[in-house]
Amino acid sequence: MTGDLLGAVTAPPARVRVQLPLPLPEPYDYKVPGDMALVPGSYVEVPLGPRRLFGVVWGDGDAQGGVEERRLRPVLRHIDLPPMPDVGRRFIEWVAAYTMAPVGAVLRMAVSVSAALEDPRALTAYMRAGDDLPDGLRLTPARRRILDLLSDGPPRLAADLAAEAGCGPAVVRGLAEAGVLATVPMLALPRFPRPDPDANPKPLSGAQRLAADDLAGKAAAGGYSATLLDGVTGSGKTEVYFEAVAAALRAGRQALVLLPEIALSAQWLDRFADRFGVRPAEWHSDMAPPLRRHTWRAVARGEARVIVGARSALFLPYPDLGLIVVDEEHEAAFKQEDGVIYHARDMAVARAHLGRIPIVLASATPSLETLVNAETGRYARIDLPSRHGGASMPDVTLIDLRRKEQAPPARQWLSPVLREALSQTMLAGEQGMLFLNRRGYAPLTLCRGCGHRLQCPNCTAWLVEHRLSRRLQCHHCGYQARSPDACPQCEAEGSFVACGPGVERVAEEVATLFPDARVALMTSDTLAGPRAMREVIEQVKAGAIDLLIGTQVMAKGHHFPLLTLVGVVDADLGLSGGDLRAAERTFQLLHQVAGRAGREERPGRVLLQTHMPEHPVMQSLAAHDRDSFLAIESEQRRQLEMPPFGRLAAIIVSGEDEQAVDAAAAALGRRAPREREDLTILGPAPAPLAVLRGRFRRRLLLKGPKGVALQPILHDWLSVVDVPASVRVQVDIDPYSF
Ligand code: ADP
Ligand code: ZN
Repeated sequence: MTGDLLGAVTAPPARVRVQLPLPLPEPYDYKVPGDMALVPGSYVEVPLGPRRLFGVVWGDGDAQGGVEERRLRPVLRHIDLPPMPDVGRRFIEWVAAYTMAPVGAVLRMAVSVSAALEDPRALTAYMRAGDDLPDGLRLTPARRRILDLLSDGPPRLAADLAAEAGCGPAVVRGLAEAGVLATVPMLALPRFPRPDPDANPKPLSGAQRLAADDLAGKAAAGGYSATLLDGVTGSGKTEVYFEAVAAALRAGRQALVLLPEIALSAQWLDRFADRFGVRPAEWHSDMAPPLRRHTWRAVARGEARVIVGARSALFLPYPDLGLIVVDEEHEAAFKQEDGVIYHARDMAVARAHLGRIPIVLASATPSLETLVNAETGRYARIDLPSRHGGASMPDVTLIDLRRKEQAPPARQWLSPVLREALSQTMLAGEQGMLFLNRRGYAPLTLCRGCGHRLQCPNCTAWLVEHRLSRRLQCHHCGYQARSPDACPQCEAEGSFVACGPGVERVAEEVATLFPDARVALMTSDTLAGPRAMREVIEQVKAGAIDLLIGTQVMAKGHHFPLLTLVGVVDADLGLSGGDLRAAERTFQLLHQVAGRAGREERPGRVLLQTHMPEHPVMQSLAAHDRDSFLAIESEQRRQLEMPPFGRLAAIIVSGEDEQAVDAAAAALGRRAPREREDLTILGPAPAPLAVLRGRFRRRLLLKGPKGVALQPILHDWLSVVDVPASVRVQVDIDPYSF
């Protein structure tokens, strides 16, 4: 620093508070070198203990209350990026307060691009060359880890590789110099040309035009608004909100479209490119680190104008976000269940509010939460009541599996009516789809001799047989094992039988029934990624597939002109279990699946196999009467004062030591705020998955009236209970299942 007098007038602050991407509630103070010009939002690299971390300047340091001047460590580097805007930092703080997570934990989601924010174009990736180390090179544990990482995965940047292997860059460099690793040129990183709002606008129908003008007007004007775009499947919601995106682009602002799963975006991306001339920037969880960093920087610099992504895209460092669209807003996939537990749709509304920009929530089956907000006038609402181009809604028929003549033969899963419909459809040169929301061959494997069931060693869950990969799998923790030859309990050989159907088993039945049919299996196990997905989609569109069989990855978003029949193998699947949201979720999913049928001029039909034909979900699907289902569902929730008519939070207590977990849960139960009459406390009880990944889990629920904020109550409650370090306590505000 120069002289005091000068410094007092113009120099930047001598110390700054830097928020680090670690679960810390408060920023730390650092000293600013004299030649560094920092402002709130600047990205910096700072020391913490022996580490170098990068963080964000949160504000001026506190010269009085903070750390003594001489013990202060300096900011090491100012990273050359536009600062995170004020609204970005306020949003992070807001999410932290709402979800009761440390600010630094939320920041970590926003800067999840690894500590080195270098421009990756300058770097090179390394790849494994051979298996044997050259003479004289010992296989140290660090070298082993590096080689293992590369043999399991894609090429990586040297710095990422060192970080992942937990060693210094010199170890990587050493291996490269010895010729064990080969340098490969980086894959070409995408550029982000500007989407052209006027490239290829579609002529819209009357109702679509009105909707598009409304949304585009809001996007052009700016200012907060939340609008529910409620339109039946095939009504053209995407085309309509594209016009809002176009308006945001014309206004010179960025736009974000949140989608529940990146898998469904192959078709979406093509449509976007068709409308705007170029592809948007994508953001999802399994991007390679260099691409991730590249995209992150492009957003921060304002080069990426439209971003489509999964929930974490909400936390990107937009310098000038002007519009948010949440498509399929009812989807459970928007809820993040670990780390910072949040619902991306709800946080997106908060982000729009803080940034004073419009948000559009689109769905054919809006969540009850959003519908109630639309009813009370908190959200505006636009309806698109009919399908585009005059296509009619498909006929929905219930097949009552309790009736003998409608039930499938023993150990088979397709009823005579469904078989007949499939064969007619294929004869007519049309396509059919069979939906079963269960991956694998059979959900349960049982010993014929003693009844022993194969269970996951880490979870309260049965192992699911996957015949195609010849493995048993836990769908909760990913545990895999070979099918045992003999029963571990009674030692009988070859005694295991598969119980119940999974999609693979349905495919087997189809192969026997229709040996000549061209069948494609569409599940997350059989499709390795977006590319494989796209291939199948192309084949279906080209008419090269007669019959599609799949799980929910198949249910959403796709538009197949030749598809006229949808058969749901087990419509009741989602209704079992004690979850109060089960009916809503099942209705949404089945409605989505049904919406695949008859999207163009050929009329569609849907056959639902069910043991509960009189259930409101089935009745309303058959009658195309969403409102009566919603009325029944709302009434039930209202009576129980459950969301959206009351507020709910869950406390999850978990740990590897069951007794410690029980003791901690009981202690929380004893100190619960029972004196407040407006609150209800439920539990402790086993959480929906009582054991998950080897951790025992207990849950308490706190319920209050709509106007009461639960966070301060939870805060006080949790602060009076001591929990041992081996036990983790997590808060889930607005739990999805209850
Ligand atoms: P939704 O999202 O409501 O299910 P989409 O936006 O996917 O509906 O539209 C369904 C199909 O109809 C898509 O193939 C889409 O391209 C087509 N479509 C909708 N509106 C129009 C339009 N105005 N002009 C041309 N095609 C349209
Ligand atoms: Zn498991």
